[in-house]
Amino acid sequence: MGSSIHTLGELRRARTSATGLRRRSVKDEVRENLIEKLRAGETLFPGIIGYEETVIPQLVNAILSRHNFILLGLRGQAKSRILRGLIDLLDDTIPVVPGCEIHDDPLEPLCAGCRARVAAEGDKLPLAWLPRDLRFVEKLATPDVTIADMVGDIDPIKAARAGLGLSDELTMHYGLLPRANRGIFAINELADLAGKIQVGLFNILQEGDIQIKGYPVRLRLDLLMVFTANPEDYTARGKIITPLKDRIGSEIRTHYPLTRDHAMAITGQEAWLSRHADGRQLEIPPYLREIVEEIAFQARAERKIDKRSGVSQRMPITCLENVVSNAERRALMADENPIVPRVTDIYSAIPSLTGKFELEYEGELRGADNVARDLIRAAVGAIFAERFDCVETRRVIEWFDMGGTLQIADISSAAELIKQARCVQGLVELADHLGLKSDAPPPLLASAVDFILEGLYAQKKITRSDERGYHAAEQQSRRPPRQTETSLDDSLPMPSSGKKKYYN
Ligand SMILES: [Zn+2]
Repeated sequence: MGSSIHTLGELRRARTSATGLRRRSVKDEVRENLIEKLRAGETLFPGIIGYEETVIPQLVNAILSRHNFILLGLRGQAKSRILRGLIDLLDDTIPVVPGCEIHDDPLEPLCAGCRARVAAEGDKLPLAWLPRDLRFVEKLATPDVTIADMVGDIDPIKAARAGLGLSDELTMHYGLLPRANRGIFAINELADLAGKIQVGLFNILQEGDIQIKGYPVRLRLDLLMVFTANPEDYTARGKIITPLKDRIGSEIRTHYPLTRDHAMAITGQEAWLSRHADGRQLEIPPYLREIVEEIAFQARAERKIDKRSGVSQRMPITCLENVVSNAERRALMADENPIVPRVTDIYSAIPSLTGKFELEYEGELRGADNVARDLIRAAVGAIFAERFDCVETRRVIEWFDMGGTLQIADISSAAELIKQARCVQGLVELADHLGLKSDAPPPLLASAVDFILEGLYAQKKITRSDERGYHAAEQQSRRPPRQTETSLDDSLPMPSSGKKKYYN
């Protein structure tokens, strides 16, 4: 549309013609473009997984209602991503007065500069076309954000140079909000914004008006305002001024993935896994993806971890990337193909986990690394229980009980691991339950064996030293079995599906 219109006169004629461009507010524009997408059955907010029946319908209703809205949710719930997705609902381009800092509409300019230009140049005024991605302004709220940052300031030097009074509009230095005019303004973590600035926002939501340093500069901005906040901060008394809250049309709650399948789909989409390590293939066993995801689910339910700040979905994403990197490193050193991550690689990925949660006091006592280790072990236990619940593992446990030990290193090659594992009666054969025959590619088989050993370790049927030596579980703690069950459960909460069995 824009390409054929170059001047104000052409725009005026196009807009008055039967098929012309109608002048509309940002909220109408977004609403009408959304209606188009709904009618065409298009996927709304592509790439946002697991919100189809919860968040997205509420979001659609807020937009159809022409509301300014807020997303309430914990970290890593795709809030910012949803807000950026609103860009898709803007027109491809809109006409603006070239060079105007607040993207004035040539037909209805707000600022003094543009009004003067339109008066002087009339229909010959050239136009610029503003693409939609430049119409989204995002600001992370912090307590030190000032009115000058947000709304603007008077520039005394500019005034002096031009010989203008300070109250003259031409002396203004615009803040983020006026610069977002005719677009979407997103403020993340609204509760961190000082009360004074919240009042400023309220004025804009109320009147569409800004005032700068008390000067009666009236700018009727056209904006869609959207926010995010942590739900507890938002509802805490005194964090958000009531009139501002009252002006936010809809509050929409986001959430973490409700199912492991959704979570795995998100991680699969976001994690950087399409690597070309020296031409080697990457094969991630399904149980490994499940365990990485289960860590986040365990973490969100863990009482040592602060529930108010949440456990970001970035946790499984960075974890899986790090797991794959450890496998990549091993494959390069042992010259193996394909690259197959192992469960023990997850322990090497602890640096990708510890920054993704805040600890409660009890967790601080235990230490972030240990909390992460406990989470991994619990996750392995849960997935192992799902896969091996009805599988007889007694022969393997007996082998260790008879004094057998197995020493495996982080960088042991697949061939080496399997060679050692073959000494243990029935161990390699258990991989059959993961769909792997004994002639499967060694890296896959080695990963399966590693999973089984780690699963038995997670279920405390065998023990493992820090140096990754596997041996029998402590005898006195395994006999009699009843006592064992209580004493072990104290130290490691196992999911109910991970019921332990003892084979003595
Ligand atoms: Zn202007």
